[in-house]
Amino acid sequence: MHSEALNRLFYKHVGQTSSAPLALQIERAEGIYMYAKDKTYIDCISGISVSNVGHGNAKVIEAAKAQLDHYMHLMVYGEMVQEPQVNLATKLTSVLPASLNSVYYVNSGSEAIEGAMKLAKRVTGRHQFTAQYLAYHGGTHGALSLMSDAYFSRKFVPLLPGITFIHQNDLSELNTAITEETAAVFIEPIMGEKGYVCCDLAYLKAIRKRCDETGTLLVFDEIQSGYGRCGYLFALEKYGITPDILILAKGFGGGMPLGCFIADKKNMDLFQDNPVLGHITTFGGHPVSCAASLATLNFIIDNDLAEKANAKEKEFRRLLVHPNIKHVTGTGLMLAIDLEDKIYCRQVIDKCVNAGLLVDWFLYSEHKIRLAPPLIIENEAIEKICGIILENL
Ligand code: PMP
Repeated sequence: MHSEALNRLFYKHVGQTSSAPLALQIERAEGIYMYAKDKTYIDCISGISVSNVGHGNAKVIEAAKAQLDHYMHLMVYGEMVQEPQVNLATKLTSVLPASLNSVYYVNSGSEAIEGAMKLAKRVTGRHQFTAQYLAYHGGTHGALSLMSDAYFSRKFVPLLPGITFIHQNDLSELNTAITEETAAVFIEPIMGEKGYVCCDLAYLKAIRKRCDETGTLLVFDEIQSGYGRCGYLFALEKYGITPDILILAKGFGGGMPLGCFIADKKNMDLFQDNPVLGHITTFGGHPVSCAASLATLNFIIDNDLAEKANAKEKEFRRLLVHPNIKHVTGTGLMLAIDLEDKIYCRQVIDKCVNAGLLVDWFLYSEHKIRLAPPLIIENEAIEKICGIILENL
């Protein structure tokens, strides 16, 4: 279709989430590149932390195609022994702490958050939750309830009652915000939409301790940090802290839609009974997504992509020196350039996109530029990216 007609029909018939979408027409994507008809873009955001092993990764495509040849959807979640689900859960739990041994598959991050909230209610018999100010957990009603920013939630009230918010890295609030009434505390170990800000080790240790004292479940939302992006396979390794529930999505599917929450089997089994079907999904753990996810995980491990992200972070930090850059925050290949000024930041982002570099902003930190390239990125491309950014500052 002609690109103008395509554009017109996009606005006419495809539901929009903002009045100013990027609206690029990408025809093909490979590695760190996206190709439009007359322009090539370097993807420095990975579809917001999704394309960790690069676009069109041959191993992922091969695995997905092989599964397509066997079967797609067979039956609603949990009824059939689907080998791709079993293989992925087996591999995943082999690289996680022993207590994270049962994987419940869903389709997205928001759904995984909902499932984790329901599981925490079943395990504890409580219904109150604690979450961080300026965390992002998703667009469904439960996930939205865990988000402090009224701008995004006020038109959707009433939301869930009984939610308490804590400030990142502030230990003084923990005793009052986490009590014997709290079902679970939801934590982003590296806060995403706040602008890639790492939690302190002492803060996470204090939360873990307080959860243990009060019988509260600790939930890590690793939807952005997981699958190698933070410089470890999971941020829980970076901190040496084991949550009671781990949530994955985004890069977890290797470009296919997939999410999960992982817990101890004795807790997860509560969904089986009283009521049966305690959580339910038709497509959760789609076999093609699970095959793609396993190939992605193997690719990350076989190529040391998580560990290598740390050297790549250093390279970004070495090159991103400019009087207008206040700080570079984040870890691994989830980095943010802090420019302090929101309007200026937006101008720089627009100029970079015009120059063929896809960077982005953050929901709650509009003065920061998001850098989250595919983990396969090489130093030469990092140099090119930083060159474009510096030129446009
Ligand atoms: N948690 C975090 C940390 C996220 O970044 C996101 C998505 N931006 C979500 C949850 C929600 O995931 P999804 O969009 O797949 O529902």
